[in-house]
Amino acid sequence: MQNWRTNAHRLILPGAALALAGYGIFFASPYDTRILTIAGVYALLVLGYQFIFGHAGALSLAQGTFFGLGAFVTGILATRFGLEFHATFPLSILIPAALAALVATAVLRLESHYLALATLALSQSVLLLAINWESVTGGANGLPGIPGVSILGWNLPRGTPLLVFVWIWVAIGAVLAHRIVAGAYGLAFRTVRLAPMAAAAAIGIDASALRLAAFVLSAAYAGAAGALYAHTLTVISPEVLGFGIMIVCLTMTVIGGRWSIPGAICAALLLTHLPEWFRGLQEYYLAANGVVLLLAVIFAPAGFLVFLQRRPDSAPRPPGVSNAAIPQMLPPKTELTVAALSKSFGGLRALDGANLTLAPGTITGLIGPNGSGKTTLVNLLTGLEQPDGGNARLGTIQLTGQPSFRIARAGIARTFQTPDLPAGVTVRDTVAAAIEPAHIGLWQDMLATNPTASLRQRRTRADTILQDFGLAGLDDQLCDALPHGRRRMLEVARAAAGNPAFLILDEPTAGFTQAETTSFGEKLQQLAASGCGILLIDHDPDFVAGISSTLVCLDGGTVIASGAPADVLQQPAVRRAYFGAFHESAA
Ligand code: ADP
Ligand code: MG
Repeated sequence: MQNWRTNAHRLILPGAALALAGYGIFFASPYDTRILTIAGVYALLVLGYQFIFGHAGALSLAQGTFFGLGAFVTGILATRFGLEFHATFPLSILIPAALAALVATAVLRLESHYLALATLALSQSVLLLAINWESVTGGANGLPGIPGVSILGWNLPRGTPLLVFVWIWVAIGAVLAHRIVAGAYGLAFRTVRLAPMAAAAAIGIDASALRLAAFVLSAAYAGAAGALYAHTLTVISPEVLGFGIMIVCLTMTVIGGRWSIPGAICAALLLTHLPEWFRGLQEYYLAANGVVLLLAVIFAPAGFLVFLQRRPDSAPRPPGVSNAAIPQMLPPKTELTVAALSKSFGGLRALDGANLTLAPGTITGLIGPNGSGKTTLVNLLTGLEQPDGGNARLGTIQLTGQPSFRIARAGIARTFQTPDLPAGVTVRDTVAAAIEPAHIGLWQDMLATNPTASLRQRRTRADTILQDFGLAGLDDQLCDALPHGRRRMLEVARAAAGNPAFLILDEPTAGFTQAETTSFGEKLQQLAASGCGILLIDHDPDFVAGISSTLVCLDGGTVIASGAPADVLQQPAVRRAYFGAFHESAA
């Protein structure tokens, strides 16, 4: 089943590309040549938009603006200053990218529709500026007479040479995009998109840095596309900044697939030709166009090339690479201290001045009835919630007020009471994403001899970790297909993958069999013996008491007892709060 798809994927696309290239170069009429050139321009625009819309999952509506800006930079510099392509093209890329970086801080922290609105406002402002700044932009009349591409005095002829030139840039853009998303960097994007909480608090991925990079990259690609568009059209007006181009770009991206590079190119080719093919329909053209779009969105929401592609996650098993441990950067004996931590939700005091110290290399059990504030404590510790008072420190490092990913990078990894796993990602890659997240970077993959090498090494390490946690053999399964107990174990394996100094586990054994719980307890003791401090929340007091060196009991947001497990379990307050509630709920 998988095989013919793989082969089809390998043969159909290159074959079609070759046929189209032959047609475009040798047989196309001047009119067709122009349409194919414009298709290339759009392909570049869409490849860029995939970074922000696809990989970062943010609905930016500024892509058309970056495109128009690139076109105007080239238009203005070429017509008014006589600059050539080798000067105008880099500037057409840099200026939109700089604008993106400039507005990113304000815009990218916004969620979904607010982000869309903010980017829409940005595009309207730039459009108004272009219309009104007549002396520079030509105002509503636009800029005529943009010369063709000329480099160091050599003029590239229009027609077929320009067509080839534009598609060379599409190829460069596609190769770069592939390098950026095919390795560990791309996996980080997927992890943030599909399991954002875990990406930050369990792994330590800096989601805002990824978003910024995606936004700047999308603007750079759009600027390049705009520059080539200006050379192709020879005249530009503020229309290039209008919303029409944004809509076309969005449609192409949805139809081609938000993550597929061949999909982006095919969609650009298809949608630039669609108006030509449907021209006979005259006034019904728009309706026909709409029907095609609707069909595409209904039947192939991930893009129409999914029918040809192999699954993105069924990569071949990587060859062996050494499994060196990650060095622990904290000084020895660093403690995790919680002092007077408080949090209210409305009138409810979920946590009320909790004090707690976790020592490295020991297991601390945290028990308490439902709603006593255990998860709240963990959320405060890992930066998912901000406390109303008190603080948490790791040695001398202040944790309170830091974003989740920094707390994770400081050496505190966690699991979630409700597992946060990236659906559609394999078990192996779920763990691979958690290995050395601080070393995953755009440049590393883009400039590497082999961009997937970074991912392959991590996958090999992930296999060892999975084996270690009794998950061997499940590596190729998608993590959302696992039974509940395995999902929790996978979360623990992922949290342990970064060799954290402290591991915080929120009811990890829920859904485990008795045998699984027992071997899990042994695993935790091993981890502790190797130096990892563990905070274990569990609903089974005997299990926790059996493996912890300290037991802490919360009730109503207050620590009511803490000390040696046997002593804590004997205290009347604990028996009342915990066992009372426990037996009631069990009855
Ligand atoms: P536990 O993990 O010990 O079962 P929690 O920390 O989840 O308890 O919850 C403590 C109390 O705070 C509960 O009464 C819960 O309903 C409340 N709570 C937790 N999170 C929120 C929230 N985000 N908004 C409102 N109330 C919350
Ligand atoms: Mg809880």
